Amino acid sequence: MRLRGTSRINERGHLEIGGCDVTELARVYGTPLYIYDEALIRQKCREFVDAFRSSGVPFQVAYASKAFCTMAMCRVVAEEGLSLDVVSEGELYTALRAGFPPERIHFHGNNKSPDEIDMAVGARVGCFVVDNFYEMEVLCDVARRRGVKVRVLLRVAPGVEAHTHEYVMTGQTDTKFGFDLESGAADRALEEAARMETMEVVGVHAHIGSQIFETAGFRATAEKLGQLAARARERTGVTFSVVNVGGGFGIRYTEEDRPLAVSDYIRAVTDAVRTAFGRIEGYPLPEVWVEPGRSVVGEAGTALYTIGSWKEIPGIRRYVAVDGGMADNPRPALYGARYEAILANRANEPADTVVTVAGKCCESGDMLIRDCRLPDPRPGDLLAVFCSGAYQYSMASNYNRLRRPAVVFVRDGAADVVVKRETLDDVVGNDVLPERLKGRGPA
Ligand code: PLP
Repeated sequence: MRLRGTSRINERGHLEIGGCDVTELARVYGTPLYIYDEALIRQKCREFVDAFRSSGVPFQVAYASKAFCTMAMCRVVAEEGLSLDVVSEGELYTALRAGFPPERIHFHGNNKSPDEIDMAVGARVGCFVVDNFYEMEVLCDVARRRGVKVRVLLRVAPGVEAHTHEYVMTGQTDTKFGFDLESGAADRALEEAARMETMEVVGVHAHIGSQIFETAGFRATAEKLGQLAARARERTGVTFSVVNVGGGFGIRYTEEDRPLAVSDYIRAVTDAVRTAFGRIEGYPLPEVWVEPGRSVVGEAGTALYTIGSWKEIPGIRRYVAVDGGMADNPRPALYGARYEAILANRANEPADTVVTVAGKCCESGDMLIRDCRLPDPRPGDLLAVFCSGAYQYSMASNYNRLRRPAVVFVRDGAADVVVKRETLDDVVGNDVLPERLKGRGPA
């Protein structure tokens, strides 16, 4: 089993992260618990920045906050000098409440509401990544009313299919995101935006998918954006100063995953943009922006559960159930995501038993890990699921009225709660019992 970041097995045979014994974290904070290795988050941020610095290409690295968005995460990202991609008023509000510099916030989303746009214009975010004609109109109205000029990137669907799961593939023509190149919508959108006095078109954006292990998709995207840039300059006089190729850099959930190093992804991206734009006569090299989410936080997060019930179906399989499941991690049910795990309290023992780890939600599809090798798990054991930092807590729900877990950041032997576990009162906190339903019948 590959341990990441500051994780290690200590003298007591327990998993330790950030200098904290995980069994102790479970005792103090309970389970399910999301544990983030803060040093590893910071290391990943720096890998992106360092890779760009050595490429010599002007850049911005915007952390895609959808992967995991809390005020503490926003602070860490701000301290590391990254920008931030937000897609909703909630993510924007979180960032602003955390004191994130608004000029480094990029506002995304395929259906930004007029109120969200107004909030973001009012907050003076750094740029809008405009997704469709309707948004362009609303944004223009809001900017005019507020008397400001907004910086925009246009999101393009480049017609590039990243080799990844269908549900996280976004670059193909038939996608809900962005202006497609094939029908000419992207060219028209650029012409329209260039005419608007309230907008400064700074560049284009494309995000082709997630958990990508190859560089071909990024090269093909840069080519298409280069061609679009040449046409746009000819037709509108606009020169892109920014090319944003999105995120999607893969990570290793299981031994079978073969991601590239961050530096290799960034070299491929910067080379591709250099080549594609170098081919256009007299075109200044644009800034290259990326938006990594998973590759910044995915490996830094560990989900910790307590094992409870189990059942054996002779000749078929043994199930063990944990105290969380699809409510805190919908990824296996959504797209068959796979994970590796160990028993955090018996980490040195031989993993000689194959079990299927089930969640506690009322869905047959609520399986966290199929065919997981563990040392004969028993009720009370602690299951640590690695690579749980991205798109888990941020996708968590209260299905079956489970309480959303607590989140701790660990570093140098200290743990800080960054999100409290929900209480039962939180679970019913927004429920309203109308007068007419109160006090009737047995209560
Ligand atoms: N940028 C955009 C526009 C996205 O939609 C996403 C993910 O959905 C990301 C960046 C981050 O992707 P990842 O977490 O795979 O790096």
